[in-house]
Amino acid sequence: MQKPKPVDVTAVVAIGALAGSTVVNLAEHDVSAIRILIVALSMLSVGGILLAQIAKDMTTELYQCPTKDCRVEIRATRNHSPERLAALRDMATDHTRHGSTAS
Ligand SMILES: [Zn+2]
Repeated sequence: MQKPKPVDVTAVVAIGALAGSTVVNLAEHDVSAIRILIVALSMLSVGGILLAQIAKDMTTELYQCPTKDCRVEIRATRNHSPERLAALRDMATDHTRHGSTAS
């Protein structure tokens, strides 16, 4: 288990606070407990999905070909060596090295 980064903790606190304040609002409007629970759980699970996406974006590099209409892109996890990441970046951003997909 990795130690959570400060941004992860902040996001969890923000999502928790948002879900908590929504629950309080619903409770003040006589919404039944089961509905409140469903809303809270769905908010927390959506928050979890967002967090997973944020974590993925933070741990991967995306290299895209700058050539118009070329959709070549390489997503690499950052645990590769710098040399390997540089090679992948060159492969993605140098259109002549994969140019058969679009001219
Ligand atoms: Zn290209």
